[in-house]
Amino acid sequence: MTATTTTTPVVARTRDELRAARAALSGKEIAVVMTMGALHEGHATLIEQARAEADHVIVTIFLNPLQFGPKEDLSRYPRTFDSDLEICSRYGADLVFAPTPDVIYQDGDPGVRISAGPLGTLLEGHSRPGHFDGMLTVVAKLMHLSAGTRFYFGQKDAQQLLLIRRMVRDLDFPARVISVPTVREPDGLAMSSRNTYLTESDREVALSLSRALRAGAAAAPEGPSAIRRAARGVLVAEPLVLVDYLVLVHATTLRDVPEWYRGEALLAVAGKVGTTRLIDNLPVLVGPGGGALDVFSNPDDLGAAEPM
Ligand code: AMP
Repeated sequence: MTATTTTTPVVARTRDELRAARAALSGKEIAVVMTMGALHEGHATLIEQARAEADHVIVTIFLNPLQFGPKEDLSRYPRTFDSDLEICSRYGADLVFAPTPDVIYQDGDPGVRISAGPLGTLLEGHSRPGHFDGMLTVVAKLMHLSAGTRFYFGQKDAQQLLLIRRMVRDLDFPARVISVPTVREPDGLAMSSRNTYLTESDREVALSLSRALRAGAAAAPEGPSAIRRAARGVLVAEPLVLVDYLVLVHATTLRDVPEWYRGEALLAVAGKVGTTRLIDNLPVLVGPGGGALDVFSNPDDLGAAEPM
């Protein structure tokens, strides 16, 4: 990846600082990339695409306590602000909003929250109760506070992306959501801030997640059960991954696709490697000529009926 421009972004820590810095940004399209910090090339790709498609780019860096469960990794999550700022500069962010929780949640825990609804209880939501309500609540707040027009999210977090699209549509947010394909290490591991938790041997084991997805995608022309079988075969051969789920689901309902289904679907996996919970996914085209896709071809179409 090549950096496009080098600017020194304004850093805003408070609502007043954000308001002042935001008011100084002119132009029609204001892009926003929301992150929890510990930035890597995946985040950089979002910033770079935002830079290419908008007049200005705002990056938010906020570790949102509301989306972490009591037994999750909030306290050990990597905090690397200086290098984050360096990446924001290198990829052309104009403004970095890096608030503390008391700036975002002025009165403590918000009594009113966004509900992710039934889709928020499946897959990640099943393993992380309340996670998506907390995520959507902060995304809604950051959409309002940043007053952006275009919001960039990674396909890496497929269910998050789907729920944000749903929120924007169901609650009529004046926002455009753009999906960015998953950025991977050369060996296939999906980039993640949590990869820093992996030991060298964990990392080898973790490769079986992306390998399983690729094996599944390679079987896509043969249909759903062949995809599931191929992907499962890779994970069964690696007992050190504690698999939470491996599913082939409809892209907008997140329900298992039936055997006769042909079209786009999401092959998604989650599992624990050592002490680290990892997720990965591939959008796939199921059926003749099928295989892996970067992102879904028509992501704004959220109305597809359940394929039953
Ligand atoms: P996070 O800091 O993990 O909350 O991620 C912030 C944004 O970056 C989200 O939209 C993620 O989906 C996206 N992102 C994280 N990792 C990747 C990756 N490997 N490829 C593409 N996008 C990513």
